[in-house]
Amino acid sequence: MSDDCHSPESASSGQSQSLDEFGLIQRFFVDQNYYSNVWPFQGIGDDCAILELGCTRLAVTTDMMALGTHFLEDADPFTVGQKALAVNLSDLAASGATPKAFFLSLSLPAVDVSWLDSFSKGLLKEAATYNCPLRGGDTTKTASVDGKPGKTCFSICAIGEISSGPAMTRAGARAGDDIWVSGTPGDAFAYLGDIWKEFTVPSRLLPYFKARMETPTPRVQLGTQIRHCASACCDISDGLVGDLKHILERSNVSAVLYWGDFPRSEQMSLLPELVQQRCVLAGGDDYELLFTAPKSVRDSVKEIGKSVGVKVTRIGEILPPGIPLRILTKEGQSLPVMNSFNHFE
Ligand code: ADP
Ligand code: MG
Repeated sequence: MSDDCHSPESASSGQSQSLDEFGLIQRFFVDQNYYSNVWPFQGIGDDCAILELGCTRLAVTTDMMALGTHFLEDADPFTVGQKALAVNLSDLAASGATPKAFFLSLSLPAVDVSWLDSFSKGLLKEAATYNCPLRGGDTTKTASVDGKPGKTCFSICAIGEISSGPAMTRAGARAGDDIWVSGTPGDAFAYLGDIWKEFTVPSRLLPYFKARMETPTPRVQLGTQIRHCASACCDISDGLVGDLKHILERSNVSAVLYWGDFPRSEQMSLLPELVQQRCVLAGGDDYELLFTAPKSVRDSVKEIGKSVGVKVTRIGEILPPGIPLRILTKEGQSLPVMNSFNHFE
């Protein structure tokens, strides 16, 4: 699930218990039962479940977006529609799958024709861009509760294909592998952090950051090509360090990150250093790919980045298990390992 335009209030509200988002999934939904005659699969725990179907494999993901949690009341419905599909395509990219189809489940408090017109146009434009048609779904009304109108909420399930060669998962990183990231993570959170008043961004830079938050680019082509040389991959939805931790846990390894090597957009590099660290390391909503690959394929990774027109940067190294994750500056100082977004934490 993507954990994106979450407000600070939504993160701390509700009846808080000792279970966080991932503890909750583990406790209630990781099913240990034995099933016979089901498709061989990989999952839960990766960006997509991988289903083996004869000589092909399907990658399947589902991501929900709720008003107030993932998009704001005044958000342009066109970009909400684009982003709704983009975050799912990003999960497909993280598995190295080629998008094939998606399904849309929509729950609306009322029929707002103008909102639906823009939303559907944005959604279907993204679908056409990535050659991923809408093939079904479900539509319901969100009931009002105690006189308060229900909120818009929708979920997309996207399906991709991995016809030959390996699928990428979060497991598979090995000590000695390089850690790579695509694009310039942190830009989306620079906008969110400003509107939540966590820090202030000069107003001339806001349009750039806002666009990065509202219209992320799923790295579909990069994903389908790096799967031949990457050892593990995930997309960054919750924050780079938090998502890296998923790879480390699933691969049973540790890591060191070199802050000085991190790619930063021109706009990001104009912000104070501490704000940059907050956005880049723990911001989230980036939908860039974070992946590991053996040192021996460095040139291939760079070549692939060039051929698909996406910047790829080495930002660290995978270490054996048992060593704490560290983030080092050029001067060798350790930065705090900030927590990323987690629903219910
Ligand atoms: P992503 O951010 O890529 O969508 P997450 O890290 O949020 O993935 O989710 C971790 C794993 O937990 C994924 O494999 C996801 O499919 C699975 N998951 C999340 N919610 C549930 C649920 N309610 N039931 C079963 N599996 C779930
Ligand atoms: Mg993901």
